[in-house]
Amino acid sequence: MAGAYDDRDGKIWMDGKLVEWRDAKVHILTHALHYASSVFEGERCYDGKIFKGVEHSIRLRKSAELLDFEIPYSVEEIEAAKYAMLAANGWTNAYVRAIAWRGAGDDMGVSARRNPVRLAIAGWEWGNYYGDAKMKGAKLDISKWRRPDPKTIPSAAKAAGLYMICTMSKHAAEAKGCSDALMMDYRGYVAEATGANVFFVKNGEVHTPLPDCFLNGLTRQTVIEMLKGKGITVHERHIEPVELAGFEQCWLTGTAAEVTPVGKIGDFHFEVGALTRDVAESYEKLVRA
Ligand code: PMP
Repeated sequence: MAGAYDDRDGKIWMDGKLVEWRDAKVHILTHALHYASSVFEGERCYDGKIFKGVEHSIRLRKSAELLDFEIPYSVEEIEAAKYAMLAANGWTNAYVRAIAWRGAGDDMGVSARRNPVRLAIAGWEWGNYYGDAKMKGAKLDISKWRRPDPKTIPSAAKAAGLYMICTMSKHAAEAKGCSDALMMDYRGYVAEATGANVFFVKNGEVHTPLPDCFLNGLTRQTVIEMLKGKGITVHERHIEPVELAGFEQCWLTGTAAEVTPVGKIGDFHFEVGALTRDVAESYEKLVRA
C-alpha cells in the first residue's frame, strides 16, 4: 500500500462502521480543524495483538475528558472497533491511529456544546519511526520551543493542539539533518522529544524526566518496569540541560519509536551501549510475548 494518506485502498472505522478509505472525510466546518478539539492515540499491533490496547483506549477517553468532551463509545467498543479495522484490512502488524474530535454541527464559535463528538480508527503499516537510527543512534536537535506549564494547557492529554510546537520543532530539526528534537519544559528542564519520552544512562543507573508537564508514555512506563525488573535503579526527576554532558547513553521511547537509541543531542554525544541495546531487545520481545 502506498500513496498519499487520503488516497489508499482499505477500510477505516468511522462513527460505528467501516467505510471505504477514500470516503473517510470530514466537513471543512469541523470544529476540531478550527480549534484543535481533537485527541488521539498511536498504537501498534504485533502479530495480531495490540500492545496495551486497553490502556490506549482508556487514555483516549481520558484525554477527551481533559478537553471537556466525552467519547460516545466505551473502552470495549473502541477495542472492538480497532480489531474490526485491522481485520478488514487484513493486518496483523500495523500502526493503529484512533482519533476523537468535535465535528461540524450547530456551533461554529469557540463553544462546541452542540456539535457531535466523532471517533475514527485508521491504521497503516509503519516500519522504524526513525529509519536506521534504530541501529546507529538518532541525531537530535534541541528545540527552541518549550513544553508548556500544565496550568496553560492539559499536558497529560494526547491532544492535537499540543503537537503544534512539535511539528515546528521537528521541521527545524530536519532542516539541520536531525531526525527529531529534544524539548525543554517551561522551567528549562529536559522534557521529551516531539513524539517520544527520553531516558539517559550514567554509571549503570537510569535517569528520566519526571512527566509533570508532558505525556507519561505507556512505553515509558513499560520500560521503567522492565528496568526495575532487571534490578536497575531508575531516577525519575527533573534533569537540567547541563547534565547532558555527563550522560553516557540515551534512548527514546514511544509506541511509534519503540526503543530508539540516541547518538547525539545538539553537541552532546552518546554511545549506543549495552544497556540501550538490551532494553531495545527486551522491549521487542515483550511486545510480541
Ligand atoms: N510524548 C509524546 C509527545 C508523544 O507523542 C508520545 C507518543 N504517543 C509519547 C510521548 C510516548 O507515548 P507512548 O509511549 O504512550 O506512545
